[in-house]
Amino acid sequence: MKHLIILGDGMADWHVPQLNGKTLLQYADTPAMDWLARHGCCGLLKTVPDGFHPGSEVANSSILGYDQHRVYEGRGPLEAASIGVDLQPDDLALRCNLVCVEGDILKNHSCGRLETEEGDQLIRFLNDQLANERVHFYTGVQYRHLLVIKGGDKRLRCTPPHDVPGQPWEQFEIQAEVPEAEETAALLRDLVRRSQELLPTHPLNKERAREGKDMASSIWPWGGGYRPQMTPLTERFPEQISHGAVITAVDLIRGIGRYAGLRVINVPGATGLFDTNFEGKAQAAIDALLGSDPDSPAGGEDFVYLHVEASDEAGHDGSVPLKLQTIEDLDHRLIQPILNKFLAPLLRDGEAPTPFDSSAQPLPPISIALLPDHPTPCAHRTHTAEPIPFAIYYPGIEPDSVQTFDEDAAKGGAYGLLEGDEFIQLFMTK
Ligand SMILES: [Zn+2]
Repeated sequence: MKHLIILGDGMADWHVPQLNGKTLLQYADTPAMDWLARHGCCGLLKTVPDGFHPGSEVANSSILGYDQHRVYEGRGPLEAASIGVDLQPDDLALRCNLVCVEGDILKNHSCGRLETEEGDQLIRFLNDQLANERVHFYTGVQYRHLLVIKGGDKRLRCTPPHDVPGQPWEQFEIQAEVPEAEETAALLRDLVRRSQELLPTHPLNKERAREGKDMASSIWPWGGGYRPQMTPLTERFPEQISHGAVITAVDLIRGIGRYAGLRVINVPGATGLFDTNFEGKAQAAIDALLGSDPDSPAGGEDFVYLHVEASDEAGHDGSVPLKLQTIEDLDHRLIQPILNKFLAPLLRDGEAPTPFDSSAQPLPPISIALLPDHPTPCAHRTHTAEPIPFAIYYPGIEPDSVQTFDEDAAKGGAYGLLEGDEFIQLFMTK
């Protein structure tokens, strides 16, 4: 059996007064999602363990069954995985923002808009000036980069720069939490101060200043940790998965996928926004599962994690109409083509979300799960930690009584409330 998880980031929501008290999943036109719920079984899943923030990295790696208490190492190692830096066991990886410091004040965490090419020039410059056998900078995306300290101690008190804009930066200088980490803390404080001498002298920053833009005038390392001890899915489920892949536009999810032993598939036009290439992502998943993608193993991938960010971004924007559109696009433009491809022979005699291609060839059986990672309620404009609804369908499953895919209906599902690795165990072993 092939396995496909379709993840609509932040898709769950609250009851919205202007939608007659319905949630967005209830209000949106979602025949394909409802088909999966009606012909499969539903439940609720707690994706954010107690004591953790409801970040996408926490929720997505929990969905894959990783115990956050054992594997969570912070942003740095995820950044490393997302840009393809293979960390050694004694490498301390820190997220390294390029920030705007003006005088004593941390003006912002991102120096306004910084293009990746600009960030790359500055990171190369820092490497020329500051790197040595222990210290190395790596270019990431825009203002988000990576700093690796060989033999660094992670027991540090660091402050995420987006938490303290407009405040005097010196009070948030990195401190050691234990005496053994003092050497690492001192090294990092020194790098920050030297970056503040060097970066404003770079021609690119001088040009930004002339144009009235914020300078990238300091590094800001935070979120340090080591390579996570994540056992690859192929080792956890050796009978079900020999090869797997992840499809996403989001670097954090790419990083988790790499640590979980998945091949990363990049889809042209996948933006992480409402204008993403839904059809291209559906086709990439189909091609990977069937082995028609030239990079996939013979016979295709056994497992694909297909992540779509669009709904989360619409939730952060607080836009109900835009989020409804992303949900309907996910349904019509991504899930329906996949159902049409894999389930047409099964569905032809039954209920179908759209007319199916009658020329469909017999295809391998597939188990499909549909779920968000966490709610991003439009009224709240950020993530919450409530359990999310999920549906699982596979050929031969005995359906429960749930008729639609939404937050309320899933409460009546056969699977009840799951947590920890219960969801992935249930899904993979079918
Ligand atoms: Zn998310």
